[in-house]
Amino acid sequence: MAETLFDKIINREIQADIVYEDDQCLAFKDINPQAPVHFLVIPKKRIATINDIEPEDRELVGHLFLVAAKVAQEMGFSEKGYRTVMNCNDDGGQSVYHIHLHVLAGKPLGWPPYTDRPKQV
Ligand code: AMP
Repeated sequence: MAETLFDKIINREIQADIVYEDDQCLAFKDINPQAPVHFLVIPKKRIATINDIEPEDRELVGHLFLVAAKVAQEMGFSEKGYRTVMNCNDDGGQSVYHIHLHVLAGKPLGWPPYTDRPKQV
């Protein structure tokens, strides 16, 4: 799969506000936050979409959730609550084709978590 801007963040070619890093993943604040707290947890391995996750990636994908929970705990909002979202492909609203777990918090979040999007022509 092609390189995305998230590879550039991993490689420090683009600046990001990094909140966590280990050998498997990186977490950084979303540049266009949709809640008072909004960061992304991404694997360092390039995986384009949820559809491209292989059985061998199951631990890595589970790790993204463990990191989301760890950072939530460290930032102090784990008990109040938060939402994780992973968008897939166009109808899912995915814009960067390198899987990423959105972590949103800091206020009571509405449900359902979407508004209708007019079809692009
Ligand atoms: P998605 O639409 O689910 O693919 O999410 C991509 C997310 O990446 C969006 O919420 C963007 O605001 C975010 N984003 C795009 N460029 C950057 C960047 N340079 N640094 C941090 N977040 C970014």
